[in-house]
Amino acid sequence: MTTRLIVFGRQGAGKGTQCVRLADHYGIPHISTGDMLREAVAEGTELGLRAKVLMDAGDLVPDDVMEGIVDERLAKPDAEPGWLLDGYPRTLGQVEAMRRNLGEAFVDLAVNLDVPVDVVTGRMVARGRADDTEEAIRRRLELYEEQTAPLLSWFGQRERLVEIDGVGTEDDVFERLVKVVDAALGA
Ligand code: AMP
Repeated sequence: MTTRLIVFGRQGAGKGTQCVRLADHYGIPHISTGDMLREAVAEGTELGLRAKVLMDAGDLVPDDVMEGIVDERLAKPDAEPGWLLDGYPRTLGQVEAMRRNLGEAFVDLAVNLDVPVDVVTGRMVARGRADDTEEAIRRRLELYEEQTAPLLSWFGQRERLVEIDGVGTEDDVFERLVKVVDAALGA
């Protein structure tokens, strides 16, 4: 039995916080591609230098670059019992990469943490991260609708998607998540 989870949600949906708690709850590593890229930026690696410009603009890092990073991370021993992917895949190309590298049944469950656009915009402005300029926020939300929202249909059609209402207190949303994930995984 593995627990391989993908969590979707617009930026500012409270996804990061819930992902940390969920990964801890299920005893699997929390793999956030945004965190990995921010680490690379902080370390000043070649990847970091390349990614920084794109991240600051709210644009996406190219699929082939992301594929390499994620493939390497998922091959680590701690990811053997499962993993929770936060922020990946974000494009259909990234889904294809996962199928190529991990096989057709590459995930147990995808969860969409749904918070309306007007609510997330307010939250993102408030959190004040360095790459959260108004223009970058707008660009990220636009790309989410354009590139990432179609993935929800993809997972939905394969009966691998559950929807969670992400509006509410952190504890309420977490409780909802665990209930739905447990039910879907047959725990
Ligand atoms: P996040 O913390 O998930 O909001 O990611 C911050 C930034 O990192 C994004 O705005 C993108 O520039 C980049 N990024 C993170 N994950 C991905 C991904 N799966 N594909 C492309 N770019 C990504």
